[in-house]
Amino acid sequence: MEITDIQVDGYERVARCRDEESGLHALIAVHDTTLGPALGGMRMWPYTSEDEALFDVLRLSKGMTYKSAVAETGLGGGKSVIIGDPRKDKSPALFRAMGRFLEALDGKYITAEDMNIGISDLEYVREESRWVTGLSVEKGSSGNPSPYTAHGCLIGLRAVVEEYGEESLEGQHVLIQGVGAVGGRLAILLKEAGARVTICDINEQRVEEMCDEHGFESVPELEHLAVESDIYCPCARGAGLNDETIPRLRSKAVAGCANNQLLEPRHAVDLMNRGIVYAPDYVINAGGIINVGVEMTEGGYDEAVALEWIGRIYGNLKRVFEISREEGIPTNKAALQLAQARIDAGRAG
Ligand code: NAD
Repeated sequence: MEITDIQVDGYERVARCRDEESGLHALIAVHDTTLGPALGGMRMWPYTSEDEALFDVLRLSKGMTYKSAVAETGLGGGKSVIIGDPRKDKSPALFRAMGRFLEALDGKYITAEDMNIGISDLEYVREESRWVTGLSVEKGSSGNPSPYTAHGCLIGLRAVVEEYGEESLEGQHVLIQGVGAVGGRLAILLKEAGARVTICDINEQRVEEMCDEHGFESVPELEHLAVESDIYCPCARGAGLNDETIPRLRSKAVAGCANNQLLEPRHAVDLMNRGIVYAPDYVINAGGIINVGVEMTEGGYDEAVALEWIGRIYGNLKRVFEISREEGIPTNKAALQLAQARIDAGRAG
């Protein structure tokens, strides 16, 4: 087992973790722990070089700092990436080795699920380290974060409708792209809140089932941007807001749980110029991380506490919209300002 540090400006620690016996080659980035230990998921990906993995872990860990700062979880930002093919290279020994590296960082980095990493993988990590969250409810952990992400998104959508001048979600038409774990749950919650819901997903069977069971309207994925709606709610993949899609949008707001919705930060300016309210993704989709974060509190995981904290997403979005209006800046910049202000306040003590 060998840890070597990679010096990167602006990051508290970036550790290269290598274990010959299990074949583990991973990077752990602790971006900022001003507000608390650095929480962020563990991802496995067949990166073609360590530089590529480094780029990813730096970008993702920094994003976690801002996400947690806005969400006021009392946590900082970090992330880990394992270089390898998730279909071929996983083994109990590999994840146990990862656990030993986490333990060596002494709680500065706390892990959770991310792309290509499941609860069964994390359970091996947990055999060697305490610093693992998001395991099963039976094990005293917070379980699947998706319903909490959906719940938080619903709360955030209330702030969104107010921003474009409506009082509630009742009667609002929401177009959801992607009805998987989060989007599917959100569709149901929106219907319960009296919204009109149109769904689209590349998984046609899923769409059919959801429409049969809940009476949603649907639109083929390729045609969905032609649908007029009050809120366009991306809940599939990232980068969906770009030069090609933004001019075609026919909604008053874009607000959904997908990560990294803007292809580039400048696309938030394009949305602003079109008068479309944009809820920065990491502010509105923080329900899951907040839920996981409650595990790190003194009393351990408590759903009631999680739901109370998730309720703050409403106020956070209100504040982001307020900063954006007052300063004439796009909402993604306003969110960053809010995050930085909270980190600075934490630093000042
Ligand atoms: P998921 O895989 O369960 O669902 C994604 C759905 O999107 C699937 O049904 C898939 O078929 C569909 N899809 C993929 N590409 C599509 C396309 N081009 N058009 C329409 N549908 C498409 O994933 P999830 O857990 O629901 O997460 C959805 C998004 O939310 C992701 O971007 C994820 O990073 C983000 N997110 C999830 C959580 C969480 O708690 N699960 C938390 C924060 C952010």
